[in-house]
Amino acid sequence: MSMAEIDNRSFITTVTGPIAPEEIGFCHSHEHLFLKEGPAAKIDPSLQIDDFDKTVQELNLFKEVGGTTIVDAQPIGSGRHSQWLMAASQETGVQIVASTGFHKLIFYPENHWIRTTDADILSELFIDELQNGMYTDGDEAWPKERITAKAGIIKTASDFEGVGGHIYRLFKAAAQAALATGAPIMSHTELGRAALDQIKLFTDFGLSPRQLIICHLDRKMDNVDYMLHVASTGVYLELDTIGRFKYHSDEEEVELIIKLIEAGYENQILLGLDTTRKRLKSYGGDLGLDYLVQTFLPKLESGGVSKALIKKMMHDNPAKAFSKNILVK
Ligand SMILES: [Zn+2]
Repeated sequence: MSMAEIDNRSFITTVTGPIAPEEIGFCHSHEHLFLKEGPAAKIDPSLQIDDFDKTVQELNLFKEVGGTTIVDAQPIGSGRHSQWLMAASQETGVQIVASTGFHKLIFYPENHWIRTTDADILSELFIDELQNGMYTDGDEAWPKERITAKAGIIKTASDFEGVGGHIYRLFKAAAQAALATGAPIMSHTELGRAALDQIKLFTDFGLSPRQLIICHLDRKMDNVDYMLHVASTGVYLELDTIGRFKYHSDEEEVELIIKLIEAGYENQILLGLDTTRKRLKSYGGDLGLDYLVQTFLPKLESGGVSKALIKKMMHDNPAKAFSKNILVK
């Protein structure tokens, strides 16, 4: 669609251009399609996803089971492969929403610019990627090379230490960029911790909870009450610890989702697999991007969640969550 048609209304930015929210289709809200070799892979080799053909194969598998859109959660400078995200989307027809912003600091080398750059300069960089196109480099030196594909969301992340200290500078940069552009923020929490601190920080900057997506609250089952409290703030909850049996069974995940629905939060649930190399079938893993459709969603349905509610979590909620917020000035 042309920009004129979407003037004055909300839209979603994919790596192949803007789409109307309803065009999002069946959407996985948090995956990792590529991850260049870097410091994180030295600690955990599954954090390296760098075979173009294998990822294309995985995207085709997703498409075969009815998949339409994937949100890639790897931001600039942390091993993101913006060029391949665009090329893989063009080759498969799967729509991809890419991230700017920042990740946990283990994803960056010791002397990386993300650790020291001033908040205002970082904020300008994030805005630039959302409005003008993503950089292809930046894993070592300050980014220089650019493509036309734009980022669609701002990724943020806190570790066990929360949002204070030197991390505050990064959150501030992300908040300013979200305010300036209306782009959604998707934020990593460590086992769900610091979610409320993140929300407070962002809303203190003037962002609406509707512009915030909080990840990984389902990693620990004893987070349920906390999670309901986080949901009461109005943010989107992104549940992605599905098919990860070292944390819990899928049956427990189903119970958790039902609790959220019963508490009235069905309009705020997003689902994804947060895949790494270990779980992608095309890389020799045992799960694959067809797992939600083929295995988990049928379990959710037999647990009592209606088809209409499943459609809400896979289509309607992502359509709203990943849309740019219209800025009224
Ligand atoms: Zn992730």
